[in-house]
Amino acid sequence: MTDERLVAERAKRVVTLLEDNVRTELQITNGGFGLGLSDDTIERLTQGVTSGLLYAFQFDWSPDWVKAGDVHQWNEAGQYFARCGVCLADSPPSQDQATAPAWAHKHETSH
Ligand SMILES: [Zn+2]
Repeated sequence: MTDERLVAERAKRVVTLLEDNVRTELQITNGGFGLGLSDDTIERLTQGVTSGLLYAFQFDWSPDWVKAGDVHQWNEAGQYFARCGVCLADSPPSQDQATAPAWAHKHETSH
């Protein structure tokens, strides 16, 4: 993958991750305050808020909890995942905590 293509792919991935964060916050607020918003309304709000943010601001995925040389790791429904810090691809789910970051570190060397 060329550097230019990698930058473009990463930028697309950042938009997806931003949308996911906006959607999750809306879902939590909807549930926590009993707002009764439908999934369709939440999706429309997600698209609108994300578009508005991207229109006026620059974003990158750069969580401060990921230390230099490490990768973002998380557990979801008993499965472990890790994210490549270069292209932001997520690892396949794994049953043990060591496999996902090992995949991400190995994947990072492919760039
Ligand atoms: Zn990658």
